[in-house]
This record gives sequence, C-alpha cells and structure tokens, in this order.
Amino acid sequence: MIADWLDLTLEGHASARGMGRIPSGRYEIVAPGVLEIYPDHSGPRAHPVVISAGIHGNETAPIELLGELVAGLESGRLMAGAPLLLILGNLPAIRSGERFTTTNLNRLFRRADADGNAAHSDCPADDEPARARQLMAAVDTFYARFPPTESTRRLHYDMHTAIRGSLYPRFAVVPYSEGAAISSTQWSHLSAAGLQAVLHQHQHSWTFSHYSRHYHDADAFTLELGQVHPFGENDMVALAPMSQLLAALAMGIEAPHAAPERMAYFKVEIELMRRSTDFRLCFNDDVANFTTFTPGTVVAEDGEAGPCTVGDTPLSVVFPNARVEIGARAALLLAACEPPQLALASDRTSFE
Ligand SMILES: [Zn+2]
Repeated sequence: MIADWLDLTLEGHASARGMGRIPSGRYEIVAPGVLEIYPDHSGPRAHPVVISAGIHGNETAPIELLGELVAGLESGRLMAGAPLLLILGNLPAIRSGERFTTTNLNRLFRRADADGNAAHSDCPADDEPARARQLMAAVDTFYARFPPTESTRRLHYDMHTAIRGSLYPRFAVVPYSEGAAISSTQWSHLSAAGLQAVLHQHQHSWTFSHYSRHYHDADAFTLELGQVHPFGENDMVALAPMSQLLAALAMGIEAPHAAPERMAYFKVEIELMRRSTDFRLCFNDDVANFTTFTPGTVVAEDGEAGPCTVGDTPLSVVFPNARVEIGARAALLLAACEPPQLALASDRTSFE
C-alpha cells in the first residue's frame, strides 16, 4: 500500500496516519507526507536516515527518486535494513507545482528562541510555518530513537533541483555547524552518487538540512540534483547513481565509493546582501551557478554598500537573485578549497 502513499498524498487523498507491513519490515505514516520505515533485520551498515523531497514544491526529480525507493521497498526488490524517515515537504506547493505558497519553507527550520517566540512568528500563520514545525517535530522524534554510536551516524539528505543552469549540475551544500565534522566516507559516497561539487556554508542558515546538522549532529546535506523540470521530464538516467546511494542507505549496506577528488570543493567567501533599493548584479540574469569572476571584477553595485569587487582570489557565484527584499541575500560568492581529506592530510604533515 505504501507505493500508493506518494500518489495519494500528492492527490490530497492520503489518510494522515496509518501503519502496516512491507516484505522486510513495517511502516508508519505519522503525518501527511511523513513516512517511517523500520526493518525486521538491520543491515551491516545501518544508519538512521532522513530523506526529504519537495521542500520546494516545483522540484520534482527528488520526488521521483523518493517514489522509486518506496516502490522498491514495497515490492521487495529492496530489503529494508535501516530505519528511514521519508518526507514529502511542502504538500500544497507540490500539488500546485509552485516553489512555495506563502513563504520559502526552507528558511523556517529554526527552534523557538529563548523568549518562546518562534523566530518566524512574524510570518503569516499559515501553511509553511506550521509545516516547518511539524517536520521539525517528526525529525526530533525519529532521531531521539537513534542516538549516534561508534558505528552509526544520523544522516539527512534533503533533495532539491535548482532553478538556474549550473556548471556543476549536481552539487551538495554542507550546512554550517560548530559540531562534529561530516564523516569522511560521505565524500566518497556523494562522489559515487554523481555529485560534482561541494559547497561549505560559512554561517547558520535555517534550512532543513541545517536543522538536522545543527540540532542533531547529523551528516546532513542539501543536494541540488540538476535543473527544475515538470514530472516526467526529469533526466532520471543522470540520477541513477543517486538512486543507488538511497537504496544502499535504505538497505543498511555499504554504499558505492568513488574518489572524493572527483568533486570540486568550495567555501563561501562573501554573502552578498542587498542593502538598498538601488542595487544591481553586474552580470547577466541567466548566468549559470559556479560561473567564476576574475580578480578586479565588479559583481554588484549597491546604493548604500557601494561596489562589490572580486579581490585577489577568483570567486564563483551561486544562487544569484537581485530581486530579493532589502536586507536579504542576493548571491553567494565562493572560493575554491581543498577536498576535506587532503586538507586533513596536510594539517597532519604540518604538525610532524
Ligand atoms: Zn529547492
């Protein structure tokens, strides 16, 4: 029955709760679009895994990947071997094919502050803020059952597709955290899954993957898996290696490895903010993500902050948007950096 879960949920017909069996375990629907799966027998590499899709409603390829995974578990083609929390994020937006209905869900994953006021309480009290609270609670409940151990890490893959083209169509965004470093094996798994670049955030941003990393010390990523297309028009062949990674996680077996050095690594150098009405980005609107600007290039002009000029190091742009409100982020500018293992190796050398 759970293969129907996805279709029925998207049609708005699914029951909000329910439970039952799959060939290799049991499932429970704990909220609309929120499905837990527990295996009868744990695999040798079982980690508790959160896999989410549709946090932005028009990003359909991740929903197709989630559908493949659920269908495989239901048919018995995939043997469940690890606890899974599967999430369809913004249900009304998915149904209408929009990025969101009232506000960007992927900025609302922040717990209430010390005064007891949610940080997003200034938003209108409708769908997205309520959904963020529901999803945070589902993640809290799930992870509480699985404290990390010597051999297990909490994992969260939040899957997206990007609006604009990209020099690296598939890339991972690593949320900022002062906590534990990402397990080094993740880089070789992501490389084998066809990811082409990794972007390290430099400060907190209240996304869904950041929530799992910041509050639960999970190995958590926002995965950008190509460009936005309607259902049925996604290039699922390019995503087959990603599908294999999800299947390995669900079965609790060792995921495929590839050299981490195959991916390009970047860290955020400048978070470009819009400070005034008189603001413009000095490049074409349709520039691809990861387009690089050489030293001396003026990338933005702002009536208040003045020009933003590339310094000695070339910088690459991602997620540019000049039409954000004043005070919001208009682009991230990135500097290339070393792969994590190589950085670690050179650290060691310097201490010897
Ligand atoms: Zn997205």
